[in-house]
Amino acid sequence: MSLIKEKDLNFLEKTYLPQIISGLIVTLRELFRPKFTRQYPEEKWITPPAYRGRPVLVQENNGEERCVACGLCSRVCPALAIEVKAAETEREKERYPEKFEINMVRCIFCGFCEEVCPEEAIVMSDEFELVFTSQKEAIFGKDKLLMSKEKLAKRLEFLKEYR
Ligand code: SF4
Ligand code: SF4
Repeated sequence: MSLIKEKDLNFLEKTYLPQIISGLIVTLRELFRPKFTRQYPEEKWITPPAYRGRPVLVQENNGEERCVACGLCSRVCPALAIEVKAAETEREKERYPEKFEINMVRCIFCGFCEEVCPEEAIVMSDEFELVFTSQKEAIFGKDKLLMSKEKLAKRLEFLKEYR
């Protein structure tokens, strides 16, 4: 014996017209309400300072790189996405990354590299639009990683306040 009691539908209910009409009323009502959907990509999203976009390397106003190629970020990266090769500068006891690469297919935007960096040289930017068509294109070298301090001002201020 079935425990579900079926409702007896009248003729109108059997045509589903009341349900269709009430659905259309909801649609029409929503058409004239203010829209909350972002019209991306025409309407860009302004990220909050806490947002973690792609990691980048900080470049000073005089063009110098902050990174001293200590390799800590590479060690801590859970996705093994960072490769750093150090070289000596002309200054005493100072090094720089001859090669610095992040494999953006591997990166999981965890921010560990930023947290561990003793120089505040690698930070999470506000960039979230990443497009590549091959594994090779996804490996970002210094040409794509270096970003001016001015462009990163929002994030650097945030780190100063909350670190
Ligand atoms: S954000 Fe995380 S996964 Fe990406 S490079 Fe930094 S440590 Fe590695
Ligand atoms: S970005 Fe920071 S942690 Fe990574 S190698 Fe450079 S100085 Fe060291």
